[in-house]
Amino acid sequence: MKTIIHNIGQIVSGDWRDPFAGGDCIMIEGERITAVGSAPADAAREADIVIDADGMTAIPGLIDSHVHITFGDYTPRQRTVGYLESYLHGGTTTAISASEVHVPGRPKDVEGVKALAVAAQRCFAEWRPGGMRVIAGSVILEPGLKRADFHELAQKGVRLAKAGFGAVRTAYDYVPLVAAANAEGLITTCHTGGSSIPGSGAITGDHLLKMHPTVSFHINGGPTAMPDADFERVIVESEIALQVCTAGNLRTTLLCARLAEKHRAFDRFLIATDTPTGSGIMPLGMLYTIAHLASLTDMPAERFICAATGNNARIYGLDSGYIAPGKAADIVLVDAPDGGTQATALAAIKHGDIAAVGAVVSAGVPRFVGRSRNTPGTTRKARVTVSRVMQDFSATPH
Ligand SMILES: [Zn+2]
Repeated sequence: MKTIIHNIGQIVSGDWRDPFAGGDCIMIEGERITAVGSAPADAAREADIVIDADGMTAIPGLIDSHVHITFGDYTPRQRTVGYLESYLHGGTTTAISASEVHVPGRPKDVEGVKALAVAAQRCFAEWRPGGMRVIAGSVILEPGLKRADFHELAQKGVRLAKAGFGAVRTAYDYVPLVAAANAEGLITTCHTGGSSIPGSGAITGDHLLKMHPTVSFHINGGPTAMPDADFERVIVESEIALQVCTAGNLRTTLLCARLAEKHRAFDRFLIATDTPTGSGIMPLGMLYTIAHLASLTDMPAERFICAATGNNARIYGLDSGYIAPGKAADIVLVDAPDGGTQATALAAIKHGDIAAVGAVVSAGVPRFVGRSRNTPGTTRKARVTVSRVMQDFSATPH
């Protein structure tokens, strides 16, 4: 299937060092972007679907690198069905599992945590609820896991490991577990901040520096922040990726962004939500954190869109997160919300408003065009002008 999105006002690339792509058109074939720029005169005649963006801003589909995936499109913590589809209506096209710790009665022994990770990975390998790509299967680090276990998991397609919920005596006991998982090529992640489970202590800067996971999960606090002095240490003394989450401490989110800028560490500054949790289900969480960071710092709005897209893609080794030829065709049209004071999506975000979502394309398939179920309406009106496929592009009412 060939899809063309044209008449785009501005294209955010996903690369914070070079945040805009030129042109007004994106061409898609199958699940990939084939060209970005201007459309040849006869392109529309060959396309199966043509979307007129009416001057809206195109951004890469948002990548939420901290979602509490279980099985199916269901969160036991908040007893809600369909949250992933709802997140897609907030512009998120990829959800990365923060480990399957919310599965009721989850196993805690070595064989059990391995089987859980493999099962979760398999359950989402081919299935995209509502169009959402889910990267699931994050083995929960428990004492007793050996390097051979991580080798086996990597062979079976598990790419993630998570420290912070295991039956360890102190967080320092994670050091050999994280090292073994890193050695087998897994992306290691670690709870950061106040204690997460009864009996466990807080995980702070010194623990992170000794463990050196790939990503400090919710470095701003999940939801309780570590000491302020530890942020600079982790940024300066390590290469650990700095994930800030919506369901955490806003003050330390801003602190971390400013320190990442100061120490030229913005390449590893990541935005995520850490939901669904006790904090709730937040379909617009990514858009809120982008707006909070853009409106409360001196940095531009597009910088934080890139932290929510290209930066996450690079750290997690995904083929999405950028609007560029060859990348996955995960594209969101955003705009200034209807009735606001600003003229464009980026101006609205800088102003502190969330962007209105006008269309979401994932894996090359338009999931809806027109109106998101969850954001305010757009000022401009994107619409499908040519369609040769059997599909209704309106958002499913719920
Ligand atoms: Zn979490």
